Amino acid sequence: MTKIVIASGKGGTGKTLVATSLALTAARASPCTLLDADVEAPNSAIFVKPELVSHIQVERLIPRVDAKRCTHHGRCAKVCQYHAIAALPTKTLVFEEICHACGSCAVQCPEGAISEEAVSVGVLDSGWAARTLTFIQGTLNISQAMSPPVIRALKQHALKLGWDAHDIVIIDAPPGTACPAVEALKGADVALLVTEPTPFGLHDLTLAVEVARDMLGLPVGVVLNKSGDDDSIIEIYCHAEGLPILLRIPLDRHIAEAYSDGIPLVLAQPPYQAQFHTLLQHTIRLAVEKKL
Ligand code: SF4
Ligand code: SF4
Repeated sequence: MTKIVIASGKGGTGKTLVATSLALTAARASPCTLLDADVEAPNSAIFVKPELVSHIQVERLIPRVDAKRCTHHGRCAKVCQYHAIAALPTKTLVFEEICHACGSCAVQCPEGAISEEAVSVGVLDSGWAARTLTFIQGTLNISQAMSPPVIRALKQHALKLGWDAHDIVIIDAPPGTACPAVEALKGADVALLVTEPTPFGLHDLTLAVEVARDMLGLPVGVVLNKSGDDDSIIEIYCHAEGLPILLRIPLDRHIAEAYSDGIPLVLAQPPYQAQFHTLLQHTIRLAVEKKL
């Protein structure tokens, strides 16, 4: 099995365009799983149009303080490495938005004043987009700020559904280089970083390379979207860093129109099927070479 994460240093670079066409291409040859881990704004389903047959809640255990039992001595606040609980002289407060649900405060409270309540933080929807394409997407609840638990649950759910039996797993990661993107990249075999030939594109690609290659040790390939007459800003950087540019997608009004209509690139323009097939082969090779 090869786990390929499609990532980018910022949103709007064409990550989903690449992930969906790559998944449809892979599924033509053998069983493939596509995970939409962009849980704050999942939109791969618009393109692959899955039949969703399962809908499950993702929950986190949030501490609740019993004011009658709390003696306000502050041990919980001392053990919380995320500063998500504060013991004031008359009240102990939990800041749910930054609580990592680690459970330490409940374990360490000598008065037994902390219980844990399951709170829904998101949902997982799964089904099939084609006979050989399993599709699973995570969606963060609107009121929630922490997406990594939903991404973790998404990957665990995919494992339960048997992603390890599939030849190819493609993960559409959240944009950026913060914790959600790192969560999606963890455990991957290879990262495809999608960028565009602009100063912003270069800046964000540089950050994404630092996370995927330098921090997580993944082999990295680059997909250059909105390619034009002068791609030198990205070419010079990739050459200096030894990063292969595996696919160029031109700045083309017809591609943008198909995207806005929810049509995958390989279906809107079938000649791209061969290019995505080549992209898949080169990406797998990067992963295999790293393992050798
Ligand atoms: S450790 Fe328990 S008793 Fe002490 S302040 Fe925290 S909740 Fe209250
Ligand atoms: S569960 Fe963990 S992160 Fe949340 S408040 Fe308690 S110690 Fe802090």
